[in-house]
Amino acid sequence: MAIGNFSLLAAAARRLEGKVAVITGGASGIGESTARLFSKHGAKVVIADVQDDLAESVCRDLSPSSTSFVHCDVTKEEDIENAVQTATNKYGKLDIMFNNAGIVGMVKPNILDNDKVEFEQVIRVNLVGAFLGIKHAARVMIPAGKGSIINTASVCSTIGGCAPHAYTSSKHGLVGLVRNTAVELGQHGIRVNCVSPYIVSTPLAKEFFKLDDDKLHGAYSNLKGGVLKAEDIAEAALYLGSDESKYVSGHNLLVDGGFTIVNAGFC
Ligand code: NAD
Repeated sequence: MAIGNFSLLAAAARRLEGKVAVITGGASGIGESTARLFSKHGAKVVIADVQDDLAESVCRDLSPSSTSFVHCDVTKEEDIENAVQTATNKYGKLDIMFNNAGIVGMVKPNILDNDKVEFEQVIRVNLVGAFLGIKHAARVMIPAGKGSIINTASVCSTIGGCAPHAYTSSKHGLVGLVRNTAVELGQHGIRVNCVSPYIVSTPLAKEFFKLDDDKLHGAYSNLKGGVLKAEDIAEAALYLGSDESKYVSGHNLLVDGGFTIVNAGFC
């Protein structure tokens, strides 16, 4: 009896048991932490990234029978199609699509200095990449009549002046796309949401702020508990990917310790 109860508890603790997920940008930072957490919770995971060596080492660390890597540049439609197909061919279905890959791009505060090609590249990765992810996930989720599509936006999706123009534009655009597709895909049982972090200690943030971990903590520890870790965002993605959020759709889940409420427009 005690053993039976124990196994029930263990099953409840694995919140993604039997689910299959694709995670773009899964080789590093938030995507990597999410791959680890999803895997721990029983999901089969396909990591889709351009950094082959890093992604392969994450896969080696996790169970090879339940984790795969596919080289994927999210700006290329055939790569996204391939990532989704890898999930369906290897694991039989796709339950969770996490469109997380992103870049900041060139930091030029003055609009007059912004270059069109550089601006477009950020939009291509952060917005078009998520668009392609939503589109190709929906292709396989619609016949299944269910699915959860999660997209990493940012606090810059709700406020201005915190990041370069292209980055802020891409994240605002992403929230609009999520709202539209949540309306359309809701009739097929598919949920579409965003998770929007404040500054998270990852290679992207360290490069953008030109700060190492300690200095990042010193400069941005205005939140209770300090700077966010990638694991904190992975927990939010876990909630949005699990059935615990079954009535949550079209939502932009801010994981910012209240930063945007207090500081809107003053970063
Ligand atoms: P990261 O640099 O650690 O990880 C980003 C991953 O995306 C990398 O593995 C990279 O190889 C991959 N990637 C980049 N371009 C790609 C492409 N064209 N195709 C496929 N993969 C590509 O950074 P992170 O902080 O974990 O960023 C993840 C997401 O979180 C991004 O969308 C970013 O905008 C968002 N975000 C980060 C922060 C932060 O402070 N770190 C805050 C808010 C939002």
